[in-house]
Amino acid sequence: MLTVILLEFAVPVWLLCFCCELFVTVLVHPKDKQEKEDLTECVYKVPCANCDKTYIGETGRKFGVRLQEHRTEVESKTERKFTRSLRASSLTEHNKPALTDHATQENHVINWSQATVIDREPERFTRWFKEAIHTRKEGQQAMNRDEGSYQQPRIRPLS
Ligand SMILES: [Zn+2]
Repeated sequence: MLTVILLEFAVPVWLLCFCCELFVTVLVHPKDKQEKEDLTECVYKVPCANCDKTYIGETGRKFGVRLQEHRTEVESKTERKFTRSLRASSLTEHNKPALTDHATQENHVINWSQATVIDREPERFTRWFKEAIHTRKEGQQAMNRDEGSYQQPRIRPLS
């Protein structure tokens, strides 16, 4: 007789019991279920909570780790009180990622909970290309200043 074990996030599956030859229902953890934060080698989209702009990015690492890096950077820039001169100087800084620029210059809040993985690609150059395609698809709604890493492969580390 198979023992039914209740597990968190478990799904019911029919199995044939060898001793009593009856179909029984067991609850199992689906092995292919993966939390979005754990996804690697992906292209992702981060929306703004105050307007219809979105940020398209890519990472070979875990999506959750990259998202937290964006969040830490945005929060470190937006926590400081913006004086008129600080705001003016921030407008001239172009070395910050577009996502951080959008939050600081527009004084908008990023909708972190709605950030999603929109594509998966293990090959780095193809992933950069896909990032560019997704950025182009967003058109005027994209926060990105250009089409991403695809246009600047020479400044990326080779590792
Ligand atoms: Zn916005």
